[in-house]
Amino acid sequence: MTDPADVRNVVVVGSGPAGLTAAIYTARANLSPVVIEGEPSSTSDQPGGQLMLTTEVENFPGFPEGVTGPELMTNMRAQAQRFGAELVTEKVTKLDLSASPFGVWVGPTDTEPTYRAHTVIIATGAQSLMLGLESEKRLLGHGLSTCATCDGFFFRDQDICVVGGGDSALEEANFLSRFARSVTIIHRRDSLRASKIMQDRALANEKIKWLWNSAVDEIEGDTKVTGVRIRNVVDDSVELHPFTGIFVAIGHRPNTALFADQLDLKDNGYLATEGRSSRTSVSGVFACGDVIDDTYRQAITAAGSGCSAAIDAERWLEAHH
Ligand code: NAP
Repeated sequence: MTDPADVRNVVVVGSGPAGLTAAIYTARANLSPVVIEGEPSSTSDQPGGQLMLTTEVENFPGFPEGVTGPELMTNMRAQAQRFGAELVTEKVTKLDLSASPFGVWVGPTDTEPTYRAHTVIIATGAQSLMLGLESEKRLLGHGLSTCATCDGFFFRDQDICVVGGGDSALEEANFLSRFARSVTIIHRRDSLRASKIMQDRALANEKIKWLWNSAVDEIEGDTKVTGVRIRNVVDDSVELHPFTGIFVAIGHRPNTALFADQLDLKDNGYLATEGRSSRTSVSGVFACGDVIDDTYRQAITAAGSGCSAAIDAERWLEAHH
């Protein structure tokens, strides 16, 4: 039996803008949150979510001159710590959400849980699917992007390309055509997956060009993108195109593996929440950020939803404890 004194009020899982905003709010509400922030990944030497892979962020309000992704996350961490949030640089290995207090493990899972918590805020984020090329890691944030809304502005008057044939790719291409000189859509088949209305819009856009039956073999450039080697999958011919920007828009995957069998998910795999709230299908478990967001996927919307989750958790604790 766990000593009730050992049960934490809030454990936040994840340390992107959603998790850290939830931490700031719950810390300022005197709830002493523990943030299990994850571990450095192969693409970043610190946890902190997708912004750690971003160079310049120019659309986060409050930074008129822009801010780098890592700087923004370092500031959010420091702000959470200033109010007493405890940051643990580990990965959650197991969650038991069957009953409150919930069990949270870091490290081995065949022992007692590392933490027990009255509420859990899930902010595990999502990943953009990537092509799997070695060059992607090197050039992400240096001409390679997964977010037109974030980075389109940097490609004014350039010839750039978008990979994918779904709604995301066409939406990104349409958006990018406001800035770029030309936008070439590279799609691996000769027909699109995107909805008819998006197809019509893209096909009517004079700045958008098409490379059908085409796959990216390699992205060229040491410190910035200088060209894209593209293979025609029908005749196997390869051609180097001098694109200076490439947007990969082949879908996203929410990070739900830790709890997919314990919480309701939507049909598209994103974690389901009730209406405008952050309440999941388990009372006392809240969710925020990209793991619930199949629409906006912005740092500022993630931060906003982290705030909602913190307030929901605080009210839940008030009502239950
Ligand atoms: P998606 O519908 O799954 O489309 C992914 C596209 O990327 C497909 O065309 C796929 O090719 C291609 N692709 C996948 N893996 C690839 C790889 N390894 N190499 C090259 N190409 C690859 O994903 P999405 O476009 O992100 O859309 C996700 C959902 O959100 C959809 O339901 C979509 O309708 C919705 N959405 C809606 C809007 C809107 O209505 N405004 C905007 C964005 C997204 P194949 O076609 O050959 O499989």
